[in-house]
Amino acid sequence: MDRREWSHMAVAGAVGSVLPARYSAAEEQAARAARGLPSPVIKDIQVIATQPSDVRLIVVKVLTDQDGLYGYGCATFTQRADLVVPAVEKYLKPLLLGKPADRIEDTWQACYNSSYWRNGPVLNNAISGVDQALWDIKGRQANMPVYQLLGGKAREAVETYATIGAIDASEAVDRVRAMMEQEFKCIKVMVGMPGMSSYGPSSGPPLKGLHSGAVFEPGPYMRRTRQILEECRKQLGDEVELIHDAHERVTPHQAVQFAKELEPIRLFYLEDPLPPEQLAYFRQIRQQCATSIAMGELFNNPHEWQPLIEGRLIDYIRCHLSQAGGLTPVRKIAILAEQFGVKTAWHGPPDVSPVGHTAQLHLDLASSNFGIQEGGIIRGLEAEIFTGCATYKGGYLWASNKPGWGIEVNEELAAKYPFRDGPDHLDGGWGVVRRYDGTVINQ
Ligand SMILES: [Mg+2]
Repeated sequence: MDRREWSHMAVAGAVGSVLPARYSAAEEQAARAARGLPSPVIKDIQVIATQPSDVRLIVVKVLTDQDGLYGYGCATFTQRADLVVPAVEKYLKPLLLGKPADRIEDTWQACYNSSYWRNGPVLNNAISGVDQALWDIKGRQANMPVYQLLGGKAREAVETYATIGAIDASEAVDRVRAMMEQEFKCIKVMVGMPGMSSYGPSSGPPLKGLHSGAVFEPGPYMRRTRQILEECRKQLGDEVELIHDAHERVTPHQAVQFAKELEPIRLFYLEDPLPPEQLAYFRQIRQQCATSIAMGELFNNPHEWQPLIEGRLIDYIRCHLSQAGGLTPVRKIAILAEQFGVKTAWHGPPDVSPVGHTAQLHLDLASSNFGIQEGGIIRGLEAEIFTGCATYKGGYLWASNKPGWGIEVNEELAAKYPFRDGPDHLDGGWGVVRRYDGTVINQ
């Protein structure tokens, strides 16, 4: 018998005569509060892997012993999607079969600790799939949308922003105007660098470096971006909100300089000026300028978000819900951020599944410190496979009032779009971007 088993038995023996009566009274009370709804038991856990458009989506389905009571959760990690599937099927499923489906916090803690080593993106995404599915089940069981379980609406609808890419200022101004006509009040402006591998439209022949691959140089990128954003502000006026994402592609000192140079443009926020490996430099940005800063889509560890929030070093926390482990941990991040005056802006690109977009929509609705939401407008084949997603109207996302997430998945249709290999044969992984001289840089 080891130390842990001994202490467990010792405690159980000492209080065993007292606890059963207390437990049974507490359970009766809980049953009354839940209107006598029986506790569902996890009967099966399935993984839905589908690629209806560009990105690989993973959604977990948790089924219970109660007929028709099941839930869906986002476990999408596009760049390593094939690894999330066995993490769910080989490890979480055996751990959870036969366990209660209505103990969400307890289940999250059990999954999180069962690997001993934790906080990695594959395992966090797998846990998120189960976690979000259990929230869906609880909503369906209570016959309420999940936002009601989180305390109810703190607002009527959720503001979302649009993203455009442009190679020069006139193209940027035209594209921002087109989004303003669709009633977006906030637009992210991404910049294409001629010949480079950038987050914007490409143009011209690929720049040839001292190697055969894709090239990106931070200096020209910073100069072009500043010029385009200045022109957008000048031509579009003060009312439209503008965002830019630096994608952690500049050096720490350049990030400080860049944030300072962009200060007169009054961005809604500058996103990811630094990588998670260089968090200490956020204090220098704060000391140098008042440019609003957003960070967090790459975070999967409390040690990453806690110091930035507690130090009031960022204005928007931007975690990717499934990457951080699901709704259970991220709603705690939202509450922590509220205490320090930091707002939320959860990561919402197309490589969040429609289930994940809906989970963050419900959290947005219930969080007093909601700032803005990226994406969340589900169209095309995704909308046919995932029915019941948010409606877009007037710059806002509107949730349905159906129980749980309000989403049903057409699993037969999803199965018609299995993962397919891309042009680089990387199974959904990304390639490599280098500076002109061949140095590998952040994606
Ligand atoms: Mg980003």
